[in-house]
Amino acid sequence: LDPTNENFSPEELDVEKKLRPLAFDDFTGQDQVLENLQIFVQAANLRKEALDHTLFHGPPGLGKTTLAHILANELNVGIKITSGPVLDKPGDLAGLLTNLEERDVLFIDEIHRLSPIVEEYLYSAMEDFRIDIMIESGPNARSVQINLNPFTLVGATTRSGLLTAPMRARFGIQSRLQYYNTELLTTIVQRSSSILNVPISMEAAVEIAGRSRGTPRIANALLRRVRDFAQIKGNGSIDIKIAKFALQALNVDAHGLDEMDNKILTTIIEKFKGGPVGISTIATAVSESTETVEEVYEPFLIQQGFIMRTPRGREVTELAYKHLGKIKGPIQGG
Ligand code: ADP
Repeated sequence: LDPTNENFSPEELDVEKKLRPLAFDDFTGQDQVLENLQIFVQAANLRKEALDHTLFHGPPGLGKTTLAHILANELNVGIKITSGPVLDKPGDLAGLLTNLEERDVLFIDEIHRLSPIVEEYLYSAMEDFRIDIMIESGPNARSVQINLNPFTLVGATTRSGLLTAPMRARFGIQSRLQYYNTELLTTIVQRSSSILNVPISMEAAVEIAGRSRGTPRIANALLRRVRDFAQIKGNGSIDIKIAKFALQALNVDAHGLDEMDNKILTTIIEKFKGGPVGISTIATAVSESTETVEEVYEPFLIQQGFIMRTPRGREVTELAYKHLGKIKGPIQGG
């Protein structure tokens, strides 16, 4: 479901957990989001109230789950974790909700994938901290109301566009996470290396950061692979030489673009003369959904200067031609 996460083994997920920042102070980047959250958390702590329901949206691997854990830690409360596709019956949700203690965090990943019935159920829980459940069946069926402890729902989604309007309106706090620049990712790579006890040179950290597609999860994954090369082919520490060697062997793109990024750029150049072309036309041509292209791939390609948005559609830039080794414009002569 998460394009950057599907190949992870249980051991790797364990390492990922170890690398996860636990407090606001460990979290790098997203300054504006963090500053606001710190204020909301302080205020909620001061009033001894539950934090307002909070929605994080943005591409995979940028820290949504991490922030949900940090919120629980900073609020000094427990956290229960589930996801939209897993919660398919109202009964499952009722079970989770009635087990929440006062001010706890309930984290729902992929919240855009909740079934409509479960979503409906969640509304009254979020608004009035109350749910109605049906007991018994047949002629004896009746609904009873259950009061819940005040809690904070933290929702995460890669597709804010797929969230229903009533759902979205119930989140008092909404934050969009942005791709990270190389400098921030370098800091993250350095922090992770020190947790993993691998010495790394500044130059090597910058090299890994620059090829991580603006994404901390990818930066950490590349670091772990490069560490393997350093241990087997080198002396255990990561310098620029071993980093470059490993990234080359792993076939990592110089700008960190993934297969779909490259496919999108190649398609615009080869099928649509570099654009402008509409986003849904691009999506169809690369067999992806328009939302995914628009919310996951395009923001990175725009941030890195490979694509421009124009009133008539998307256009690739000179940088894209250069990156793909292609020549701009129709081929002259014949
Ligand atoms: P998402 O929920 O958005 O897909 P996660 O919160 O699971 O992303 O983050 C993926 C991994 O990236 C985490 O295990 C964490 O180690 C790392 N990570 C994410 N954001 C940061 C950050 N700002 N600083 C340091 N590490 C981060």
